[in-house]
Amino acid sequence: MNEKMKKISILIPCFNEEQSLPLLYPELVKLMDSNANYDWELLFVNDGSMDGTLDLLRGYCQQDSRVSYVSLSRNFGKEAAMLAGFDNVTGDCMVIIDADLQDPPELIPEMIKWWEQGYEDVYARRKSRGRESWLRKRLSMLFYRMLQQSSRFDVLQNVGDFRLLDRRCVNALKRMRESERYTKGMFSWIGFKKKEIEFDRGDRQAGKSAWSYRQLFSLAIDGITSFSSLPLRISTVAGFFISMLAFIYMMVVFIRALIWGNPVQGYPSLLVIMLFLGGIQLLSLGIIGEYIGRIYNETKNRPDYIVDERNNEKVL
Ligand code: UDP
Ligand code: MG
Repeated sequence: MNEKMKKISILIPCFNEEQSLPLLYPELVKLMDSNANYDWELLFVNDGSMDGTLDLLRGYCQQDSRVSYVSLSRNFGKEAAMLAGFDNVTGDCMVIIDADLQDPPELIPEMIKWWEQGYEDVYARRKSRGRESWLRKRLSMLFYRMLQQSSRFDVLQNVGDFRLLDRRCVNALKRMRESERYTKGMFSWIGFKKKEIEFDRGDRQAGKSAWSYRQLFSLAIDGITSFSSLPLRISTVAGFFISMLAFIYMMVVFIRALIWGNPVQGYPSLLVIMLFLGGIQLLSLGIIGEYIGRIYNETKNRPDYIVDERNNEKVL
């Protein structure tokens, strides 16, 4: 053999994927077998699944020395599961892929080709989003537009977590230990040489998407607040303008009272202004609260995930 073969890791976060894994695993094995000029590692992260996912992983790990897994002690969410993957992956590069076959493994050789040409972050942009509800599509479009406007980095629309990252990117990501994670933003933040390729996103092959609208909403808030302080600035600016208006109005009231005396008047306008100001104040407090909550969580400095079991061994 020539000198050391390059090692490619595939990271698969799994949450209740007992139906998808039996479809995905043979595909990945096929991929590894047909690209034997590389060393391969499949790293599954079991994100506290309640079904038979862990048993499947134990089996794969026993059968095939290329497979390893990390099992978390509960469901920590995909963002934390991916971080657990970054920490445990050993390859010269790493491909992140969803367990539900929405990201086609056939694309991986093309990613590797670009990686060999020196690109360090090869990401897949989906041309179509597969079968998703109209509302979901619209909300996601709105969210990306807001994020794009409010932060200094390109957070790309229609780009998921399906991508190949060079070891140097993985190391950079490992250093980002914030607890309210928004990994998609981090990929842009770390920089490095990027390459975009396109694919058609299919539908989920089995099981169902674990994201509820509520979770997506909170991911959106995390995305915006962890990458920009624009919302804070909006409340400052709004507060400034409203105070200016209030001041002008006050002068008007004053002067009128001096010139024409002061019969009881203007009760409705008073009430409107009070309610309006009260609303603005509550909104600003809420925005500040979001950030303070984040600071609070961050200062607790807890680990982002807890490992329960790794490759058929309990972790102490
Ligand atoms: N996932 C996870 N933890 C979670 C939710 C999801 O590890 O709490 C994994 C899931 O198993 C899948 C990937 O993240 O491999 C994408 O999840 P899903 O298909 O539900 O999301 P979508 O495709 O709708 O973005
Ligand atoms: Mg999916």
